[in-house]
Amino acid sequence: MHVLPYVNEPYDTFTSPAAQEEMRAALAEVRSQFGQTYPAVIGGKRVQRDALIVSTNPSAPSEVVGKASRATREDAEAALDAAWKAFDSWKLWKQEDRSRVMLKAAAIMRRRKRELEAWLVYEIGKNWVEASAEVAEMIDFTEYYARQALRHVGGLGHLNAFPGEENQSFYIPLGAGLTIAPWNFPMALMTGMTVGAVVVGNTVVCKPAEDTVVAIAKMAEIFEEAGLPPGVINYLPGLGSEVGSYLVEHPRTRFINFTGSLATGKRINEAAAKVGEGQRWFKRVFLELGGKDAILVDETADLDAAALGVIQSAYGYQGQKCSACSRLVIVDSVYDRLIERVVERAKSLRVAAAETNPDMGPVCNLAQDAKVREYLGIGRSEGKLLVGGRRMDGDGFFFEPTVFGDVAPTARLAQEEVFGPVVAAIRVKNFDEGLAVVNNTVYGLTGALYSRDRARIELARREFHVGNLYFNRKCSGALAGVQPFGGFNLTGTDTKTGGPDYLLQFLQMKSVAERL
Ligand code: NAD
Repeated sequence: MHVLPYVNEPYDTFTSPAAQEEMRAALAEVRSQFGQTYPAVIGGKRVQRDALIVSTNPSAPSEVVGKASRATREDAEAALDAAWKAFDSWKLWKQEDRSRVMLKAAAIMRRRKRELEAWLVYEIGKNWVEASAEVAEMIDFTEYYARQALRHVGGLGHLNAFPGEENQSFYIPLGAGLTIAPWNFPMALMTGMTVGAVVVGNTVVCKPAEDTVVAIAKMAEIFEEAGLPPGVINYLPGLGSEVGSYLVEHPRTRFINFTGSLATGKRINEAAAKVGEGQRWFKRVFLELGGKDAILVDETADLDAAALGVIQSAYGYQGQKCSACSRLVIVDSVYDRLIERVVERAKSLRVAAAETNPDMGPVCNLAQDAKVREYLGIGRSEGKLLVGGRRMDGDGFFFEPTVFGDVAPTARLAQEEVFGPVVAAIRVKNFDEGLAVVNNTVYGLTGALYSRDRARIELARREFHVGNLYFNRKCSGALAGVQPFGGFNLTGTDTKTGGPDYLLQFLQMKSVAERL
């Protein structure tokens, strides 16, 4: 199979008038499709129930972007059946043929790029650039895993031979599993979690987050158009508490690939550990959970670069990234100077409806709105409000970019994931104290250090305990195939998405010896 080497898909910054024009046209086209109903797709069949999940536009919550059939337990059962049925033949496909379907899907995604971006703008309030970066990541995961899968054909090459025997070890897929995604990177994460499992021969039931039933309906459409056999990917829009937990506990679920909050991750991990009636395996569980990511800035740092990195990491997609900077840890001697620059930049950010391509759009939903409001209250009692702090008037879920200063490292605002545009600035005496502070949470996803001191950079390389560490750049925006992504501690099981070992997690090795 001859394929071009993997390269990251470029994303658009929409500086060219042509790109802007394309995006406006895509937004208009997508808007004209608002309000449609999307059935579940189970074994290739459309299944429509009376009960619906309604997905709205967070910039204008009275606008219905789309509705999806709200799956029942019977639908969940049927989806798992369909996945197992499809597994029987999909597992036998040649790896090249499975990879080829993924490459075809990536090509369709590329052709439908603007349209997919527009859905993200409307369904979850991403500005154009963030939407473009997500669709680029969706393509990256698909292209990267399609190629990586070819590496695993034939198993290991370096086992010893044994006299009088012919030995062979090879990988086989696990079976039918579950992929459950959050709403903040619906297309990229659901595609990555799904393609990773499916490309090596597994089949899945995809349970999207309730806010993103349209985005994932589009994803499912693309794989169908690419020629994936029915039942390999089953689209099951439903509630986490209904069909999600039902399938997590189900004795015929073989693996669970989950990305979401720590609270849900803990519940899933516990429930999946139980061996149910008739169950014949231990479920494999992959968890990618929350973060409380810190940027540490010492007195040798380039403060302008640090201020820019903080703004990009803290307020990109309104701080609703697992990798968002939510703790800014600054050495005392440069604290005031850096804060001044961060505050100045934060004030200049434009907050508006996502379709107008502002710096910041709305937070995603009513629950997010309530949560960010709550933490603004907590911040007022735990720190000094330096900028922002306000929920803007109107129906859309808009917040000002906010920084609270002099927050104690043990304060709630410094320990709990806010998942909104709120930064806790923490003052430390020196670099060593800063390093202790950044490591002092239950999470361990991303982090950054701004410093010009080589010895400190090397110390942080070893001791800053996060899955993705960055020096002198923002702490968000990992690229598939460049920075394998996944966190330590209660951030999860460190699956390292977009990394060379990711696919092995969805395989098991069979070792066969034949006496000659
Ligand atoms: P969430 O945990 O509320 O929901 C995630 C998914 O789980 C949804 O599809 C939901 O329907 C489903 N779900 C809820 N309860 C369930 C249950 N009992 N059983 C099975 N499924 C259930 O998270 P969210 O609010 O959608 O996403 C935000 C969170 O995701 C943040 O904590 C963020 O840090 C995290 N996240 C982590 C990463 C990462 O790579 N580590 C990436 C993106 C987001």
